Amino acid sequence: MTDNAVHDIVVVGAGIIGISTALALQAQGRHVLVLDRDDGLKKASEMNAGAFAFTDIVPLATPGIMRKAPKWLLDPLGPLSVPPAYALKIAPWMLRFWRASWPDRYRHSLNAQASLMDASRHALDCQIRETSAEQLFRRDGQLQLYEGEREFRASMDAWQLRKKHGIPFELLETRDAIAAIQPGIDARFTHAGYTPEWMNTCNPASFLKHLAETFLARGGRIEADDVMSVTPGEAFVSLSGRNGETRAANVIVCAGAWSRHLASTVGDSVPLETERGYNTTLADGAFDLRTHLTFGSHGFVVTRINDGIRVGGAVELGGLKLPPNYKRAETLLKKAKSFLPELKTEPGTQWMGFRPSMPDSLPVIDRSPRERRVFYAFGHGHLGLTQAAGTAKLVTELVQGQTPSIDMSAFSARRF
Ligand SMILES: Cc1cc2nc3c(=O)[nH]c(=O)nc-3n(C[C@H](O)[C@H](O)[C@H](O)COP(=O)(O)OP(=O)(O)OC[C@H]3O[C@@H](n4cnc5c(N)ncnc54)[C@H](O)[C@@H]3O)c2cc1C
Repeated sequence: MTDNAVHDIVVVGAGIIGISTALALQAQGRHVLVLDRDDGLKKASEMNAGAFAFTDIVPLATPGIMRKAPKWLLDPLGPLSVPPAYALKIAPWMLRFWRASWPDRYRHSLNAQASLMDASRHALDCQIRETSAEQLFRRDGQLQLYEGEREFRASMDAWQLRKKHGIPFELLETRDAIAAIQPGIDARFTHAGYTPEWMNTCNPASFLKHLAETFLARGGRIEADDVMSVTPGEAFVSLSGRNGETRAANVIVCAGAWSRHLASTVGDSVPLETERGYNTTLADGAFDLRTHLTFGSHGFVVTRINDGIRVGGAVELGGLKLPPNYKRAETLLKKAKSFLPELKTEPGTQWMGFRPSMPDSLPVIDRSPRERRVFYAFGHGHLGLTQAAGTAKLVTELVQGQTPSIDMSAFSARRF
């Protein structure tokens, strides 16, 4: 149904980025309508691993990554895969990913990521306080596990970088030291890095619901519509949806992995792709998990969701349309069982979701290069939950015409 009113701000997308942005704008006195196509599918913001990974400042495109990639790609159920049907389509993105791994670009992305993480950590503290969300969080730290001395030593550069950026951690070089934090890990894991300040939400779906309910209780509106295009006109920006036209003075595109199409309707081209990820959520009591576990070289994590366990990760560069391959979730679960022998792997619920990913692991947080009244906040890849509150603060500063709290050049929509 067409509504002739011109809304102050329309946010497209009710994921964690869209809802956090809507709340932050509302706090500045703006009137916000959120549109989401609400297709009944569980979105990434509800089903992710629930981790606030502020220590993950190192971009995926690290120097030397392209030497490791072929080994991963040879294993069709390994941590990284490209379905043959999508190989040609993903090639331009891969080329940009490779360029992002050159030392000059890598250093630039790393510094930008560190500053966004710092801003996001502070913004999350405020968001938790202002929305009374503390009961939805756990602060149990994280163990990053290594199989043997060689793998551990190879990770030293990343730990040095964390040290340089003031991130507290402890390196553990014995099985006993690991078991003191998390008993029940297979003996092949001899070394670990422990980040005590790491935090998790008890359940990302509950956190998102809490933020959405807070936004509604403060007078915000969320409506169902599948937005097909965003067209700037003289008097307002027109959003054409399946339910008709919505008019807005300002539009914020926060449509996750689907944002590329909407940006193209404004006239902007952004190299956004999706890294599809998989997980299995196991019943309450599946394992006595005391901290978040990261098995980095196997590309997955084990985390607590309420009283159950979620085992998930993997990267599948397969676009938005190919059907899921749940063998990936099964492979991760089998590995988790061999790393945590007491893990009860049944019953479990499998899920596949879409990480919205830019080649340099940095989101787009910017005004549209084509249209002053349209703003972008998407492309957070593996870190959307972590960076949502920070992103919301930065977009709000842009919309309000304030000087952003950090240098925004690395998040520009024009950078490619
Ligand atoms: C397996 C897995 C584990 C992860 N673990 C973590 C983690 O532990 N920590 C972390 O920080 N991040 C994690 N992530 C990444 C994180 O989930 C994402 O970066 C984040 O959820 C992206 O949020 P979003 O709001 O941009 O997108 P989404 O959650 O995808 O939301 C986008 C919304 O836009 C709507 N939409 C799209 N197009 C339209 C349209 N045309 N019209 C109307 N509505 C539209 C969709 O319906 C959807 O509701 C993980 C991701 C995966 C897949």
